Amino acid sequence: MAKRTRIIEGTWNCTSCDAKDILARHKRCPNCNNPRELTGDESDFDFGDVDAESGKSLREGVTDDKALEIAGAGEDWFCAFCGAANRGDQLRCKHCGAERSADAKAAPLQAFETPARKPPAPPPPETKPRSLKKWLFLGVLFTCCFGSGLYGMWARATHDFTGEVTGTSWKVAVTQERFTPVRKTGWADQLSRVSARMPVNGSGEVAGVDNVRDCVERQRGTRKVADGTERVCRSKTRRVACGTEEKCRRRDKGNGFVEEVCEDITRYCNESYEDCQNETRYRNEPVYARECTYDTYEWKQVDRREATGQDGKPAWPSLQPGATDRQHRSEEYAVHIRYEDDGVKETVLVPKAERDFLSWKKGQGVIVTVTNSGDLKKVVPR
Ligand SMILES: [Zn+2]
Ligand SMILES: [Zn+2]
Repeated sequence: MAKRTRIIEGTWNCTSCDAKDILARHKRCPNCNNPRELTGDESDFDFGDVDAESGKSLREGVTDDKALEIAGAGEDWFCAFCGAANRGDQLRCKHCGAERSADAKAAPLQAFETPARKPPAPPPPETKPRSLKKWLFLGVLFTCCFGSGLYGMWARATHDFTGEVTGTSWKVAVTQERFTPVRKTGWADQLSRVSARMPVNGSGEVAGVDNVRDCVERQRGTRKVADGTERVCRSKTRRVACGTEEKCRRRDKGNGFVEEVCEDITRYCNESYEDCQNETRYRNEPVYARECTYDTYEWKQVDRREATGQDGKPAWPSLQPGATDRQHRSEEYAVHIRYEDDGVKETVLVPKAERDFLSWKKGQGVIVTVTNSGDLKKVVPR
């Protein structure tokens, strides 16, 4: 990684006589003899173009001793008295003879960009729209929440109205089940003999497993088993060194010359390769087990009676349970209410239990509490 250093000579344009591309080694215009000054374009040197990839100057480097000596003389200074450019190692102005004073102007230095080693990755194109969307989203969210907050406050405010019970209705049912002997099948390893016990007053029963018989081999499911190995290859990429590339930096010496340092930097490339591995192959294998028939007991519905009615106490159907029977009761109630709120409104209460249902009577006065958004809050007797 040896470094290569070159000195590149800049050029300037005379503003007194319009001479172009005067070599930096000349502090005076070779055409009109006017000195280079800090004013106008004369203070800026042109160092020519550089190669965009490497940053290497397209100009030839200077090698003659005279130019190299000028380049090494330090930064130019501009005479405070006459404005002429002078070599950094001179104590008097070559143009007017004035001494180099504290208020002599220093040469302006050009800053050169170091060429990037890698072109910067393009920014994800979505970034901007997404952040815009995000703000839009937040704005909508804010407006919507704030707005719905106000709406919510209004909507939750309540008003009371008077009304009455226009009727009540009920629907009740009794289901009777019997602990009944049944024949079932099950896997032999899950069946162990258990004595059945009959329910007493509809509970405490044990279904039991008895008379396990007629067992046959049957497929119960599958399991995965290893079935050798296979070579599996996947295409992958990796970064590898692939030669070198030249990168150059330039430094303004402040006297019309730049120092250029170039070096060779390792370049990296993407390389495709096959990543191969031995992987276990699997197959599904059936699993067999013995399935048997056995005797047990199960609750089975033997009877069901329903009754419906209005405006009064529910009349439960009566079923006589046998020794191994049990009963389930189900009930549905409705209380119809009418009230005035910008016209006649109707609503239905659904009491869960008979006791609650019986507290409502047809013709009874009620107070209905309703929110502004029309939701029924509560109904109490008047
Ligand atoms: Zn000139
Ligand atoms: Zn001077």
